[in-house]
Amino acid sequence: MDKRHSLSKSNLVEQIPAACSDEKTAVEFLEKQRWGNTPACVRCGSVNVYQMKNAKTGERNERYLWRCHDCKEQYTVRIGTVYEESRIPLRHWCYAFWRACTSKKGVSALEIKRQCQISYKSALFLMNRIRFAMAPENAHQLTGVVECDETYIGPRKPRYKGTSKRGRGTSKTPVFCAVERNGQIRRRIVADVTTETIESAIREEVARSAHLMTDEFSAYRRIGPEYAGHSTVTHATKEYARGIAHTNTAESSHALVKRGIVGIYHNVSREYLHRYLWQYDFLWNNRQMNDGERIIAGIQGAEGKRMMYREPIGKM
Ligand SMILES: [Zn+2]
Repeated sequence: MDKRHSLSKSNLVEQIPAACSDEKTAVEFLEKQRWGNTPACVRCGSVNVYQMKNAKTGERNERYLWRCHDCKEQYTVRIGTVYEESRIPLRHWCYAFWRACTSKKGVSALEIKRQCQISYKSALFLMNRIRFAMAPENAHQLTGVVECDETYIGPRKPRYKGTSKRGRGTSKTPVFCAVERNGQIRRRIVADVTTETIESAIREEVARSAHLMTDEFSAYRRIGPEYAGHSTVTHATKEYARGIAHTNTAESSHALVKRGIVGIYHNVSREYLHRYLWQYDFLWNNRQMNDGERIIAGIQGAEGKRMMYREPIGKM
């Protein structure tokens, strides 16, 4: 993890509930996560900055503004983060981050709506941005023993499996997954499960030095020689593992996503599925962290992402 952190983890887990119920505590909590003990100007990077005060009360300005002595910029901790275009109180963001980063199967917008007493639309906005904060940045290629597998997620299986490349109508969505043994995972939606599509996903996600583990599905047959090694298990003959050759990690990760999507979200359409994959990948990739560390990782992912956000889900 990088430079910014000064809070101890146990300390952090104690602070979170307070940050979820009081706005000033929430603002200061997020400021601490972002700047540590040296608050900096979001425009010029100067640390010659100060908190603006209310002239009458001497308390912090009601918008929690900061001002830079050098460039005169006024700003808040929201600037340059996924919260920037939102007026939803930061204490609700803290609550949603807390739940999203610590619930194995995820947390629904409906639950955030109930707990924070905000509109469903606001809760949805919040959760979508949080999932975006969890999206991978500069993800490295997977190495070592890497299991590759594909699955279908969503309401219904394609009706003409094998003949139609895209399924028909509202079919289940094909998802490709590559996962290192005891390491990182990369899941992505794929247009289909043809050899060409699967191969290009593998080439992007997996380093050539890796040893691939797949089942006997034809799309995996041709690419083996490009890699350091390739072992397959033949599920058709009820072979699930042969020594270290198995795809159990990939399969159990699919099962986790499916249980979460059916149990918590009651299905997700293809259009939004990638966001849920970001969230599940984030939880998987940070599973060795304790809750406090994972919350920090989520909140830090919120910074610097605003400008990249292109999805038309409107302002809130
Ligand atoms: Zn400045």
